[in-house]
Amino acid sequence: MFMFFCVIFGAAMGSFACCQAWRLRLKATGKKDPGKRSVCLKCGKKLTWYENIPVVSWVVQRGKCRKCGKKIGAAEILAELGGAVAFGLVGWRFAQGEMETVTIVKMAIVVIFTTIVMILAVYDAKWRELPVSLLVAANMVGAAYAAVDLIWGEMDVVRLVEGVGILAGTYYLLYFLSGERLVGGGDWLLCLAIALVLGEPWLAVWVLFLSNFIGAVVMMPQKKKKIAFGPFLVMAFVIVYSFSDVILKYI
Ligand SMILES: [Zn+2]
Repeated sequence: MFMFFCVIFGAAMGSFACCQAWRLRLKATGKKDPGKRSVCLKCGKKLTWYENIPVVSWVVQRGKCRKCGKKIGAAEILAELGGAVAFGLVGWRFAQGEMETVTIVKMAIVVIFTTIVMILAVYDAKWRELPVSLLVAANMVGAAYAAVDLIWGEMDVVRLVEGVGILAGTYYLLYFLSGERLVGGGDWLLCLAIALVLGEPWLAVWVLFLSNFIGAVVMMPQKKKKIAFGPFLVMAFVIVYSFSDVILKYI
């Protein structure tokens, strides 16, 4: 029951993340925000509630707008499915242990954190850029998570610093030494936010390995020179965070 709720909630958050990414983009490029209601970006048709159900509407309409017939885009359905999987996994992690007050607080913070990094992933995938406002928000929420876990939970300050050094440090060095050719300027800040939530050097190593592995597998068939790395970092974070107990047990 709890898992089912997480998956449905995740699909809705994926849809929300996609929507927020578009709003930020329209604002950043000086275009008019269509307002509170969701609209078709091609013809401006206001979407009714039944055209706005995550995954279902996309499948029923075969990825096209009902008025103008233009394609809605693969990013929308991928964000909704990705959100469903991400929140399903995070929900699974929390379903394993006891529900103490600190666990519930951590879960609430991680829901906000995951939503922010999902917006970052969509934005990066679409426009190869990580907006600074979102990076700041992710780091603030990440710091709040670390603070809660340090004071009331099991996080250790030395291990947290080690994790930050490994993940954010590696990316900062790559960025600094390559002069933005290998990795973008925003990547190390996204790494910093992720490392704050993980709080463990071994988990940081896993994110480092997994994000590069997923990135290599996905990007191998394509011959693009510069790839958006954010989505792979976010995918690796969700997997490593959700299975952190399993990873730490068998390492
Ligand atoms: Zn349309």
